[in-house]
Amino acid sequence: MQPTPHEVLDRVFGYGAFRGQQEAIIEHVVGAGDALVVMPTGGGKSLCYQIPALLRDGVAVVVSPLIALMQDQVDALRQAGVRAAYLNSTLTFAEVQAIEADARTGALDLLYVAPERLMGERTLALLDDVRIALFAIDEAHCVSQWGHDFRPEYLQLSVLHERFPGVPRVALTATADAPTRREIAERLGLGDARVFISGFDRPNIRYTIVPKRNAREQLLRFLDAGHRGHAGIVYCLSRRKVEETARWLRERDFHALPYHAGMSADERRLHQDAFVHEDGVVIVATIAFGMGIDKPDVRFVAHLDLPKSIESYYQETGRAGRDAAPADAWMAYGLSDVVTLRQMVEGSEADEQRKRLEVRKLDALLGLCELTTCRRQTLLAHFGEERTDPCGNCDNCIAPPETWEATEAAQKALSCVYRTGQRFGAGYVIDVLRGKGSDRVRGFRHHRLSTFGIGADISASTWRSVFRQLVARGLMRVDVEGFGSLKLTEASRAVLRGECELHLRRDAPAARKPRRERPARAAPTALGPEHQALFDALRDCRRELARSQGVPPYVIFHDVTLEAMAEQQPRTLESFAALPGVGEKKLERYAATFMEVIADQA
Ligand code: ADP
Ligand code: ZN
Repeated sequence: MQPTPHEVLDRVFGYGAFRGQQEAIIEHVVGAGDALVVMPTGGGKSLCYQIPALLRDGVAVVVSPLIALMQDQVDALRQAGVRAAYLNSTLTFAEVQAIEADARTGALDLLYVAPERLMGERTLALLDDVRIALFAIDEAHCVSQWGHDFRPEYLQLSVLHERFPGVPRVALTATADAPTRREIAERLGLGDARVFISGFDRPNIRYTIVPKRNAREQLLRFLDAGHRGHAGIVYCLSRRKVEETARWLRERDFHALPYHAGMSADERRLHQDAFVHEDGVVIVATIAFGMGIDKPDVRFVAHLDLPKSIESYYQETGRAGRDAAPADAWMAYGLSDVVTLRQMVEGSEADEQRKRLEVRKLDALLGLCELTTCRRQTLLAHFGEERTDPCGNCDNCIAPPETWEATEAAQKALSCVYRTGQRFGAGYVIDVLRGKGSDRVRGFRHHRLSTFGIGADISASTWRSVFRQLVARGLMRVDVEGFGSLKLTEASRAVLRGECELHLRRDAPAARKPRRERPARAAPTALGPEHQALFDALRDCRRELARSQGVPPYVIFHDVTLEAMAEQQPRTLESFAALPGVGEKKLERYAATFMEVIADQA
């Protein structure tokens, strides 16, 4: 008798329950329906075609644009005992022939194919010869000419429908905006497909945005508070900062490696491989890094510099926690970031309209940074998704920020900017406000101004916070051509005339210096300290197994499985099988080895 989707989920993949719409999608596709699946990263898209592939006759053909992802998926499926293979440019001719022979004899359940190869005559002829269970088109937004991942070969995928009528097709993407969705449906001829939309939210990612003081020390404190030994990405704007930050982290016992476009291709590949294949590597990178990397157990993404827009922020932070286990998105930002980014926009080759758009995008991001309410609500609202309750898993929800009545302070700041001629940056204006009679201030005779010293009762760091927030709210602007000098805006007037009240966020006081003695390894986010030693031993065991097979460690078991193993310490096959992510095949292959580690530690 044919097993049910639920039985396959349990036996092959080792999971007890479907998530979200998985079951509905699987049933629809098993019943030969076409589907367009929009699900956030980490939502569990793969099972939506992998389980139908096992339940329907023939081989499922999966179109996937990235070779590394294809390899990962196939490695992971084989570990679970599924007969999977891929066809792409990394194979020798003999290997291609062997895989084609397997497909012809019905010895494959899933065949991953690069899009340009699928449309080649050789592959199409192969597909004519075999029974096809379904077509899965992964990363379906690659068909959109407006997105940044556009792949011209994807446009040709509409012929699948004509050439193989009756074979169900399922297109999957994490890009949920309505125009892209329509474009996918149109270009892939999926107008009649049932659409399954699961929204944008990444509930396992915790968002934290802090005002920048000493960004590196702040980063260190963040990492020491639970991410030692974890894999993560630290984004910086410049190559030099990437190099320096990586070195600085290495001196503090992190396995940190740089990655930027100025490095040789070999060196970049080496560092990327280390990140994927070893545990606990921190990549310090410019935004050149991340595309096409599908490492599931990235536990944090940190920004030392501001991204360009909310879209970039969401995409970059989205690389954390694809395995759905808790992950952090952490960012430090300050006024100088705004100046740098504005300068980059102004100095670019883009036309005026484009520049205005970029400035608006940056402003929207600043709004997110200075928010005093739930970050997730605002993020999702930015993508058109409404959410009524605060999330409980962002910094503002966890520790609601204090605000203070800052109307008078803002008036002082604005008039001081005005009186000094709108020609200076925040540092200088703060000196005048605080009554610091430096040579420079005296040289400009600004110690004679009525605003000299009117803000002496407020600390320089609070003033910086005031200026940052005024800029973020458009009540003051940074003039890029004037080397970052501050200028008033239309909106400044209402504040100066006392026509509106202003409540600003009070920055949390600087935390004390981190303690010097540090634990050698990290406490994984969800694991109690009493299980740490066993977890480390299990991880070592996993690393050895992965190395001997030439696969990434997460293909053997995900962190969630190891954590559950460390907590529950199963000593029988039955209890081992009950761990999440342990199917029949993995039980057979690995239970004895890992249970030995557990027994040794007892
Ligand atoms: P996506 O492709 O949508 O980013 P994946 O298919 O890679 O997501 O799944 C994300 C993670 O969630 C993987 O680690 C996967 O094993 C896990 N997962 C998927 N479905 C389930 C489920 N029903 N129960 C438990 N874990 C699941
Ligand atoms: Zn929140």
